[in-house]
Parts: sequence; C-alpha cells; structure tokens
Amino acid sequence: MSPGQRSLLFREVNDRIYDLLESGEPDLPGEFLCECGRECGRRVELLPAEFASLRGAGEPVRSAECEGPRLLAPALG
Ligand SMILES: [Zn+2]
Repeated sequence: MSPGQRSLLFREVNDRIYDLLESGEPDLPGEFLCECGRECGRRVELLPAEFASLRGAGEPVRSAECEGPRLLAPALG
C-alpha cells in the first residue's frame, strides 16, 4: 500500500471513529489514527470537535511526533 493510499484509508477510518464518538460520547476524546501515511501506528487523542475543525480546515490528523518539516521531504513520495 502506498503512503497516499494508507492516508486515504486512515482518513476513512477516522471519519468512522468520529461518527461513532459524535453520536455516542461527543464530550470525550477518542483515539484517531495518525494520517501521516507511514506505518507509524501512532494514535492521536482528539475531541470530536477538534477532529471536526481539522477536517473543516482540510488538515490531516498527525501525531506530534509525525508533525514537522521532514514530512515534506520529496523522498516520501
Ligand atoms: Zn504518523
């Protein structure tokens, strides 16, 4: 699976997690998958509202460890 495909899949999974949280416990944070596209296996704890605002801004969910300029390196393809 390419990094791009993996991030797309993880985005879909996160959307499902969000739907579940939103309809169940909207005031509690949930664990979303890091959408960096690598096999980092990290989870990102976000409130449903925080996730919604990331989506609204077109920002991917990224763990703190996966944030940063190195992600923009062309080698990641
Ligand atoms: Zn990551």
